[in-house]
Amino acid sequence: MTEYYIKVGIKTDGIPILKRHKDYTLVSNMLIGDGFHWQRVISAHLPGEVSLYNSSDHYRKADSDPTETDQHIMLINRLPLESYLECVVGSEMNPSAPIEFLKAHAVISRSWALGKVLGAHSCDCEGYKNTSDCLIGWDDTAGHHGFDVCSDDHCQRYQGVQPIAPIALQAIRDTVGEVLTTPDGSLVDARFSKCCGGRTEVFSTCWQSRSVNCLESFDDPWCDLSGLSADRRHQLLSSILKDYDLITEGYGYRWQTEIPKTTVKENLFQRFGRDIGEILSLEPLHRGPSGRIDLLRIHGTNDTLDLGKELWIRRLLSPSHLYSSAFDIEDLGVSFRLTGRGWGHGVGLCQIGAANMALHGYDYRNILSFYYPGAAITSI
Ligand SMILES: [Zn+2]
Ligand SMILES: [Zn+2]
Repeated sequence: MTEYYIKVGIKTDGIPILKRHKDYTLVSNMLIGDGFHWQRVISAHLPGEVSLYNSSDHYRKADSDPTETDQHIMLINRLPLESYLECVVGSEMNPSAPIEFLKAHAVISRSWALGKVLGAHSCDCEGYKNTSDCLIGWDDTAGHHGFDVCSDDHCQRYQGVQPIAPIALQAIRDTVGEVLTTPDGSLVDARFSKCCGGRTEVFSTCWQSRSVNCLESFDDPWCDLSGLSADRRHQLLSSILKDYDLITEGYGYRWQTEIPKTTVKENLFQRFGRDIGEILSLEPLHRGPSGRIDLLRIHGTNDTLDLGKELWIRRLLSPSHLYSSAFDIEDLGVSFRLTGRGWGHGVGLCQIGAANMALHGYDYRNILSFYYPGAAITSI
């Protein structure tokens, strides 16, 4: 088996504070959850090589992601892909999660990360639009230069060795070298999100406008936990989610929130540099098959603006990021009430649904063939 290495861009809160040890580097001010409601600074033990990142060494394309997702990247951590995966499975999930779920996660995390290392998946900015009446874009790794993936939710949560629970190590080792491949033998661009909301979404609602093998929209009955008692539901969620994910109310299957129109105006200016006057109304122009809005018309007193795709819409309508862009809008006068479903982009594996499948006795192969129709598990 070829040993692959991955370069991870590490975010820190200001100047990096490092202490080198024999087997790892201790970073005392690693920034996690950048821009999300649970953003915090942690100490992390990073295996492999750690070096300072100098963004000016790296050529940035003129049309690259205008949201500059790598602005807090201060360090580069180069390490073997399998070691990286051990940390990711430990960081993304609670180690008390069902083992078959962790194994499914190990395979998709490996497929996705290897795709980045090999440059197998297009992550260009083609389709970005930035005109006076239209702003369309998404966050992908096109904005990352000089490293393969960042350490945050934007790519996959990587928080070093923490220490890693034996069950997460077992999930990696039981599936070592296994990736998901499409019928034509290429790597699946194995996306995943917290909760699809009852129907999965297609790639083009969130990223480039093209269809991607094995990422389809279909009904997912598994993330509806309404049949479970509150205790059982909490037990299931706390076995899957980290404490800081649990602080959010519910689990995103259904949700409701309100946002003042003045906040929409402020967010539009602060996050997207646009001022169209006072906000009058929001009009969904297009939705993906799960109901996620990927083009939203914002009517202001001076102008209108069409905003897409789903992540940028979520960023407009919340202090951090709205659960999802699958919502209905009610105009309450000074504010909008948003009634929605799902947590995250909804493409590929639904983490809450997959964990529930594992609790019902399905193994990781069943889980992967459900969420990535047509994909095969292949050893590299
Ligand atoms: Zn990233
Ligand atoms: Zn689901």
